[in-house]
Formats: sequence, structure tokens, C-alpha cells
Amino acid sequence: MRCIYCKGTCVKKGIRNSVQKYRCKECSKYFQAAHKKSRRQRYMLRIGMLTCRGCGIRDISVLLQLPKTTVQRWLLRLAAKCTYKPHFEPGSVFEVDELRTFCGHKRQEHWVLYGMERSSGRIVCMLNGPRNRLNLQQVIDTILLWQPQCIYTDGLPVYRSIVPVTKHRVFRRCTNHIERHNLTLRQHIRRLSRHTLGYTRSAEMLTAVLQIYCFVKGT
Ligand SMILES: [Zn+2]
Repeated sequence: MRCIYCKGTCVKKGIRNSVQKYRCKECSKYFQAAHKKSRRQRYMLRIGMLTCRGCGIRDISVLLQLPKTTVQRWLLRLAAKCTYKPHFEPGSVFEVDELRTFCGHKRQEHWVLYGMERSSGRIVCMLNGPRNRLNLQQVIDTILLWQPQCIYTDGLPVYRSIVPVTKHRVFRRCTNHIERHNLTLRQHIRRLSRHTLGYTRSAEMLTAVLQIYCFVKGT
């Protein structure tokens, strides 16, 4: 056993709460071999994995025998920790698309807007909200930071005014990769699946789930 502070030699120095304590001979500090993970830490990873495998909050609550409110709270906490920072080489090829869903009510339309690098399938910028110029501009601006070779989009008229003409490509079936990825998203995230009662009730939870999904996919 080596000291966790100075890597010096240590001796056993008593047991407290059934945990062996050590004392360093050089720096005289006390420590223990490893700290037990809290209940939340043990569950958080499983909650993240289940979220990305088609389970909703109620499914996770039943499977892990946790209250629904606890699952919700821990999901938000996990999302705050999942900081996804992808890297792309200049000259990459991107596709941009919008995914239609609902928020709060089945009559209330909501959109997930994002870009994807074609060869690696990694997600560039994912945000949800109305399908308007402001939000799409944010996605395109993030992609332009990576100096793309070209950006493929569908025929939505607003793209013509926000993507530089030299980099913009629109033709039939040019967004096949991202369209296929939309189906994967609908398969893997419960609240995006179509023709079911599983839709998102709050935009905040949708953002959290997408953040966890991007992180799990990107790593
Ligand atoms: Zn030490």
C-alpha cells in the first residue's frame, strides 16, 4: 500500500466503521484505500444506460425500484455532468436535419435540430425548440466553426439564407445518413418514438436526455 498523497510507505492504523485506515510514514496523513460509492453514484450510470436503450422514466423507476421523482432528479444531474465536446478535422462533410416531436401536449409541435458528421456519425450540435431561423442559425454557425467542406440539408427554404452558397448542397437523398440516424434516435430514446403515448412532457428533460445520448454515443 502506497500513500495516496506522497506515494510513501504506509502502515495499517486501526479500523473505523469496518474500513481499514492507513497512516503514511513520511507525511503522517491518514487515509483509506477506496471510498465506497454513494447510492446515487451507483445508480446514475445505470440510469444513463437505460435512458439510451429505450427506457422512459417510468420504466427505469420500475426496473431499479426507485421513485420516479428520484430518477428525474438524477437524470438532470447526470446530464449536467455529461459535457460532450467533439472534435472534427477541417474539410469534413456534415448533414443537418430536423426531427419532429411533441412537447407537453400531442398538439404542440416541437423540433430537435442537429447536425451530423457524415463519415464518423458523430453529432455536432443538438438543440430542441421551434424550427425557426434563430435555432437553425445556431446549428449552422457551430458547424461552420469546424470549416466544413460542405453541408447537406433538406429543401427547407430558410437554409438558403443561412448556409454559405459555396458550401451548401441540396439534392434528392443527400441527407440519407442523418435521416437514418433520426430512426436510431427514435428507437433508442423513448420520448421520441412515434405513434405511442411516449412523448416528452418537458423540454428540459428532453434536453437532458439528448445530452446524455450524445455523450454516450460520442465516447
Ligand atoms: Zn504520504
